[in-house]
Amino acid sequence: MNRRLLGVFAHPDDESFGPAGTLAVHALDGVDVHIATMTDGAAGTPAAGFPDGDGLARVRREELRAAAAQLGATLHHFSYRDSGFIGDERNHLPDAFINVDEAEPIADLVALIREIRPDVVISHDENGGYRHPDHIRCHTVTRAAFEAAGDPERFRDLGPAFAPSRLYSETTSNRLIKVAAGVMRLVGRDPTRIGVNKDVDLTRVGVDPHRITTRVDVRKGWSRKRAAGARHASQRGDIGPLRRVPVGLLKLLFPRESFIRELPAPWPGLRETSLFE
Ligand SMILES: [Zn+2]
Repeated sequence: MNRRLLGVFAHPDDESFGPAGTLAVHALDGVDVHIATMTDGAAGTPAAGFPDGDGLARVRREELRAAAAQLGATLHHFSYRDSGFIGDERNHLPDAFINVDEAEPIADLVALIREIRPDVVISHDENGGYRHPDHIRCHTVTRAAFEAAGDPERFRDLGPAFAPSRLYSETTSNRLIKVAAGVMRLVGRDPTRIGVNKDVDLTRVGVDPHRITTRVDVRKGWSRKRAAGARHASQRGDIGPLRRVPVGLLKLLFPRESFIRELPAPWPGLRETSLFE
């Protein structure tokens, strides 16, 4: 019986800059891997030479397609409008992903889950990694769809009910991030305003390590993860800091990707090394 994994992400590039190692490793192991991307990425900040707005969305659609191919995953792209990060004027557009009626993306995901019947679903954590509103909404709708897909009384016109076994949130330990934030303060830089748009607060990125339930060995997926990230040139994935680090060193420095098991709820002290074990 073939195992299936579905990753649900907010933007084109979250699959590659997020748990791409996990997606790649499972595809290499013969798991049927699917990626669902909820928005068009139009609010991303384009690298020099790339268009913005709808032009950027078109570029990113192709980048996402190429990245999914690198990871060995089947792509499902829903193209809701990217809401932008906190404070972006596009937060207020009525058709932004964070403003559409939640029932709409939930129905999309229920239909997808019932169609592909994944054993395991992963999405962003409740903090959205770094509080991106689209990531937080993606977490919420994925969890709602996960629960609804298995209920035959709900969304009765969207195919026979199917309940996946497990839901995970991809996450990062804040242990080293806190150290980095402290170092930035020591050298006179502000860790609460970083990134291309100075809109990321490093002190609020990641979760306390004790919340992490599951660590997946991704070493054999690193080449594919890096290749997938490089496909997102409009988001500087081809010139990012990791591009110059040899894959062998990346495997040593970052051998695992971290997850929080959401459902079934974990017991205190649960520590897993597989999403399927
Ligand atoms: Zn994102």
